[in-house]
Amino acid sequence: MELKIKTCPTCDSKNFRRKTGALTHYHRRREIRVPRATYWECGDCGEQVYSLDDMHKITEYVRRHFSKAA
Ligand SMILES: [Zn+2]
Repeated sequence: MELKIKTCPTCDSKNFRRKTGALTHYHRRREIRVPRATYWECGDCGEQVYSLDDMHKITEYVRRHFSKAA
């Protein structure tokens, strides 16, 4: 599933870039790294938007590693 996002959903900036590579997500102050992710990041406000696939990976990771807390 391919998302096409051209502007930041938070601040409407056009400085919104698609990135591929390691993604660091913070869940309850703990780092979750997805080594190969595709996401978008706003150069102005830092907002990150993940692709559905990567959101799913993060959710799975959280479930596996943080199930006691969740
Ligand atoms: Zn923004």
